[in-house]
Amino acid sequence: RTFSAKESQSHLNIGTIGHVDHGKTTLTAAITKVLQKDGLADFVSYDSIDRAPEEKARGITINAAHVGYSTKKRHYAHTDCPGHADYIKNMISGASQMDGAILVVAADDGQMPQTREHLLLAKQVGVKNIVVFINKADLVDNEVLELVELEIRELMSDFGFDGDKSPVVFGSALKALNGDEVWEKSVKQLLDVIDDYIPTPSRDVSSPFMLPIDNAFSVPGRGTVVVGTIGRGTMKKGAEAELLGFNNKMKTIVNDIQVFKKSLPQAIAGENVGILLRGIKLKQVQRGMLLCAMNSQKVSNRFKASIYFLTKSEGGRSKPVTTKYIQQLFSKTWNVSCRIDLDDNVNMIMPGDHCTVDITLIWKMVMTSGQAFTIRENNITVATGIITETLP
Ligand code: GDP
Ligand code: MG
Repeated sequence: RTFSAKESQSHLNIGTIGHVDHGKTTLTAAITKVLQKDGLADFVSYDSIDRAPEEKARGITINAAHVGYSTKKRHYAHTDCPGHADYIKNMISGASQMDGAILVVAADDGQMPQTREHLLLAKQVGVKNIVVFINKADLVDNEVLELVELEIRELMSDFGFDGDKSPVVFGSALKALNGDEVWEKSVKQLLDVIDDYIPTPSRDVSSPFMLPIDNAFSVPGRGTVVVGTIGRGTMKKGAEAELLGFNNKMKTIVNDIQVFKKSLPQAIAGENVGILLRGIKLKQVQRGMLLCAMNSQKVSNRFKASIYFLTKSEGGRSKPVTTKYIQQLFSKTWNVSCRIDLDDNVNMIMPGDHCTVDITLIWKMVMTSGQAFTIRENNITVATGIITETLP
């Protein structure tokens, strides 16, 4: 849903995370209620959020509600999931790439197992900024609030977030939803700190360039052209580059850059380009390779990942997975054989479980932290995962 007056505004993907029953859905509804008063949202009721339709992402079923609203600053797409399993799947599959998150913690309960689990996953999938909403402040006194704040800041730091600087807001989602003006202010305050603290993601044009290759062809008399959308950085004519993937590491030069069939001196992230490469034969190029700035990316065949195995009813396996499990791994535009090894203390993974695993690819590829992948058996998705670390 967009709000016409704000269409040219910037956009942020956000979501509520936190332990079950701490008030994530109530807060989501309260946000739309409060913003509706200023004409910045359509009110979305608690029930309609909680009865979110099932969606199919990469073969897994995730229940998630996507609620749209605006502040004076920008537009938001907000994800709220009804159950803990939905959060796990939503985050591990990268289904709704959150730019930031609202961690909801009930003041009468404090941090709980799912608070920690969601923080861990948020870190692993690359959520950079988190604001904290200490909810149910109507149920406790100020001393308890202060304790919960201290505790949650420490927890955030433990998980690698900025626990000291992250904003913490006390409030009551339920009272705000019921129209209590005192508590409506807490929701407004939350929206203000989100506006201020979480930066709008911008196209990265300054980091070393990276072009995932979708296609390649040869131009008689000129050479090999690779085609794709620049994922990051600025590509300049004459730049030294490396072609990486499938065990290859080839040096080349960006001989020409074409955008919409016109030759240009440079192109930036987000542009679809054809790149004429020096000294590369067509048969050396493969869809799924990466063209990147010299020495900017590493190829490896060993990674750590967070992985979720689909249940039988989600189309996954019926039997558990044990160590040295060998299958095809799919990511971006490529797939290669891989072996999955479980941690020493884990004997098997049951369908419906998630855990950390070691992945070994048959070829060396570029995979970076936060990169999503799936595992398929005979073209059926049985697992979804995200890279958390590249091993040497
Ligand atoms: P979720 O599982 O995190 O989405 O939690 P819900 O939003 O479903 O809320 C769980 C329960 O806590 C519901 O019964 C809510 O009415 C109640 N609740 C939510 N926010 C507040 C609050 O600020 N104060 C009080 N007293 N109860 C709340
Ligand atoms: Mg909920």
